Amino acid sequence: MNEPYEQVNTGANEESLRMVSSQPIGNEPVSDEELRPHILDGFIGQPQLKAQLRLFLDAARKRETPPDHILLAGPPGLGKTTLAMIVANELEVPIRITSGPAIQHAGDLASILSSLEPGEVLFVDEVHRLPRAAEELLYIAMEDFRVDVMVGKGPGASSIPLTLPRFTMIGATTREGMLPSPLRARFGFTAHLDFYPHEELEKLVERSAGVLGLEIDRDAAHELALRSRGTPRIANRLLRRVRDWVIVHDLSKASADDVRQALALYQIDAEGLDRLDIAVLNAIVRNFQGGPVGLNTLAAMVGEESETVETVCEPYLVREGFLIRTPKGRVATPKAWQHLGIRPNEDDVSKSF
Ligand code: ADP
Repeated sequence: MNEPYEQVNTGANEESLRMVSSQPIGNEPVSDEELRPHILDGFIGQPQLKAQLRLFLDAARKRETPPDHILLAGPPGLGKTTLAMIVANELEVPIRITSGPAIQHAGDLASILSSLEPGEVLFVDEVHRLPRAAEELLYIAMEDFRVDVMVGKGPGASSIPLTLPRFTMIGATTREGMLPSPLRARFGFTAHLDFYPHEELEKLVERSAGVLGLEIDRDAAHELALRSRGTPRIANRLLRRVRDWVIVHDLSKASADDVRQALALYQIDAEGLDRLDIAVLNAIVRNFQGGPVGLNTLAAMVGEESETVETVCEPYLVREGFLIRTPKGRVATPKAWQHLGIRPNEDDVSKSF
């Protein structure tokens, strides 16, 4: 639950350039809008979560009151913002979008809260990054639908309580463990988003291809899904690059081979590993006979900051079973050797583990 989903500082530059980044890159947030489903039925996968949310929203509609506050937790690119927009759309209410880091002072939040319309959805992305004072203001707003507005400064300052209309707060977080428990306790419904299995990503690719007006074989959608690291944002990004390929080559349809060739250009292989992932695995296997090797040495070998290797590269390699972290250092698994097409010598493998 407390996985380091979020990409932190030093890794951010490298991360923002990666085709397989789960964070938006370039002008993507805008261009991605057309691919967002607007209704719950259009949201692919996550069946359990969708059924829970359906019940939750239907009940609110029948009661004719705004639903409880919702917390959406999970790694970047899995659909938290999309779901928040779907909730507002399904309830036919407006949505206000902000984020923890965008709110620098409690006053910023107070002015947003005091201008909310009845029933409006307030979406706060990266809610674990709200400043402390804003967080405390939010507790009262979420619970009592009230905000205390400070008037004046210094010893003469006084607070005026302002009643807010009932609204629904939707918080999104990549670090649920960093949320203070009083804040977590104020959400009536918490949804955890998980990485998507290949079959769901395949459906997502087919849906997005339809929106983009691109014909794509089922096999092609499958190849693309395999390379998308369980993440819709990555699947959509790779799909756009496949569309470039189709346009430039004057094709009527994308085949599995087109997907392979287009994505090979970006050095993304059949398991969704890119240049940096392969460099890390190569360094462990070829230079250290499979490890263990310390993080700093490894980072120096691939010419990156340790933090970049640790936060940008390793989570996926560990999740997919290419690498394990041991107290003595990083060790490549037999799957990594196999992926690189190198036969481990028995001694190397037993030494590593
Ligand atoms: P997050 O807020 O979790 O970082 P987003 O909601 O911005 O992720 O999703 C990233 C992109 O992936 C969006 O453009 C959206 O179109 C797409 N997407 C995410 N989840 C789904 C889904 N379940 N079905 C269809 N598209 C999805």
